[in-house]
Amino acid sequence: AAKNQGRSRYSYFSPSMQEAAQARMRLVNDLRGAVAGDQFCVHYQPIVQLATGAIHKAEALIRWQHPVRGLVNPAEFIPIAEDTGMIVDIGNWVFREAARQAARWRALHHAEFQISVNKSPVQFHRVGHDYAAWLAYLQELGLPGQNVVVEITEGLLMDNSSAVTGQLLAFRDAGIQVALDDFGTGYSALSYLQKFDIDYLKIDRAFVHDLAPDSSNTALCEAIIVMAHKLGIKVVAEGVETEQQRSLLAAAGCDYGQGYLFSRPVPADEFEALLQLSP
Ligand code: C2E
Ligand code: MG
Ligand code: MG
Ligand code: MG
Repeated sequence: AAKNQGRSRYSYFSPSMQEAAQARMRLVNDLRGAVAGDQFCVHYQPIVQLATGAIHKAEALIRWQHPVRGLVNPAEFIPIAEDTGMIVDIGNWVFREAARQAARWRALHHAEFQISVNKSPVQFHRVGHDYAAWLAYLQELGLPGQNVVVEITEGLLMDNSSAVTGQLLAFRDAGIQVALDDFGTGYSALSYLQKFDIDYLKIDRAFVHDLAPDSSNTALCEAIIVMAHKLGIKVVAEGVETEQQRSLLAAAGCDYGQGYLFSRPVPADEFEALLQLSP
């Protein structure tokens, strides 16, 4: 009887599940329209050198302006874009947009300005899809690879496929830097840091959030920073929201901070204004 009950409970869509499935299908359709119809833009969030307060870099973050729903969160549509493969076109678009801006900001402000672009594992797995085109576009812009950082997640490094290692090596050859995003939330297998020659490690904002003097998270952040530096890796703290977090991170030797304390992600023209004010 229990088994039957279990079956009747789990094998049919409940009305709310049906609604969720329909909402998702609508979102998939809308997303196709968005790709075709100019509904995306890129916002830029400063990455600040903690010792000086200078803006050295920015992370490019996609924004979707839905004609009816307004701004839709990447957390809501990026997973759908990944499942459907649309992330490849979307990711190519973000890369070109961000690289074009970076070429401008590099010329206007600082030869070492870096733009950070997220690249999801799905993008790596469309074999031969686009990374050569990314490199060609940098050439076209005259933007050196050294001015570009690709943000990957820990899961990708667990993957030994030639699609992944080949692209990472090609990026490396072109001078492109690699950042490990959301560090601490995944496997955090330290051996991968060495194996893949990571340039930056981004401490996930979950750890930064609970920083307080003498907290265990503070000890954890300090240990991550020491370890990263021993491996020649620079550290970015994500989600820095308070002055206390900033000063604890700076005291721990963290290289860079990113978060609402400095600025939310903003449109390109607003970012450019911030850059002009930067020390
Ligand atoms: P992420 O790469 O870890 O990006 C950082 C996220 O933290 C951004 O969320 C940013 O707005 C948010 N954030 C920054 N500072 C603070 C802070 O002080 N407090 C809090 N609470 N949050 C802060 P966003 O823009 O909503 O993006 C979410 C995720 O979506 C990103 O996480 C990234 O994984 C993905 N994503 C965004 N744009 C792209 C893209 O162009 N391509 C790909 N593949 N993924 C993207
Ligand atoms: Mg990121
Ligand atoms: Mg992150
Ligand atoms: Mg390195």
